[in-house]
Amino acid sequence: MLERYRAILGGKKLPYYLKAKKDGQYHLTKEEELWDMHKNFLEKDIPPLALKTELAHRMLEHCELCEWRCGVDRTRDKTGKCGVSAEPNISSMFLHFGEEQELIPSHTVFFSGCNLECVYCQNYDISQQPDAGRNVRPKILAERLDHGAGINVNWVGGDPTPNLPYILDVMEYMEEPLPQVWNSNMYLSKEGMQLLAKLMDVYLTDFKYGNDECAKRLSGVDDYTMVVKRNHIIAERTGDLMIRHLVLPGHIECCTKPILEWIRENLQLPRVNIMTQYRPVYMANGYDDIARYLSDREITEVKSLRRQFSGITRF
Ligand code: SF4
Repeated sequence: MLERYRAILGGKKLPYYLKAKKDGQYHLTKEEELWDMHKNFLEKDIPPLALKTELAHRMLEHCELCEWRCGVDRTRDKTGKCGVSAEPNISSMFLHFGEEQELIPSHTVFFSGCNLECVYCQNYDISQQPDAGRNVRPKILAERLDHGAGINVNWVGGDPTPNLPYILDVMEYMEEPLPQVWNSNMYLSKEGMQLLAKLMDVYLTDFKYGNDECAKRLSGVDDYTMVVKRNHIIAERTGDLMIRHLVLPGHIECCTKPILEWIRENLQLPRVNIMTQYRPVYMANGYDDIARYLSDREITEVKSLRRQFSGITRF
C-alpha cells in the first residue's frame, strides 16, 4: 500500500510530474492529434507535462473536465456548473496536520468552488463560493510549495477538478520531488482522468454514495456510481489509492455497505478510511435523514463494519 508514495519520500522514485518534464512544443497541433499523442505516451511512457498542460488549456475552451461536460469556453469569462473561472481562486493554503498519518504534514491547497452541490457539504463555505479567496500566480504558488515544509502537495477544494489547467501551470514551475496528491470527489470525465494519469502519485478520494438515487437527491448529480467507480479503477492503474467514505446518518445500508463491498470486489490494494465525523451543516436541516449526527447505534455498526472489512479499512 502506498508503495509509489513511500518510494518517492524515500528518494527511490521521482514524482510523475518531474519525470514528465521533457522538451516539447504542442501549441500548433490540433487537439484531436494531441489526444492521440497523449494516448500513445500513456501506453508506454510518461506523457510530457507540456502536452498535458496544452491539452488541459484546450479543454478550458469547451470545458469537459468533469462529467457535467458543460462545454463552455471558460477562457472567455463563461462559467459552467461549478462556477469556477479560468483563473481560479485559492481559498486557503496551509500545512495540514489533520490528514491521514502517512500524509502529514501535507501542503494543502484549497480551491474555491466545486462541481458537486452536496446539500450537507462539510466545507460549504469554500465549495459554494467560487469567487471567494484570491488568484495566485502559478509561479508564486510553485515557489511557496517548493520552499514549504510539506512532504507532499495536496490539491483539494471544493474540488480540484475545475482547476486542473492551473495546477499543471504550477507544476511547470515546481522543482522539488514532492508527491502530488489528488484529493477529490472523482466526478471527472474520462478525459480529465487521462490528464491525471501518470501525473498524480496519490489519489485521495471521497467515495460518497452506493447508489444513484442518493447521489441525485443529496448532490444533484447524474450517473454518480458509474462515473466514480470507473474513475477509481482508472486511478488505481497508475497511482496509489486512499479512499475516504464519510458515513451519512441513515445511509449505512444504501451507501456505506454497497461502497465497501464494491471496493473489496473491484480494487486491488485500496486503503479505506470510514469516517464518522459527519455534522449536519449547510442545507442538511432541510433533509430529514441527514439533519442529525450519527447515532450511537450507527457508530457501533461502523465499528463492526471496520472489523468485517478489516482487509481494506483503517481505524
Ligand atoms: S469543471 Fe465540470 S462543472 Fe466546471 S465548467 Fe467544466 S465541465 Fe462544467
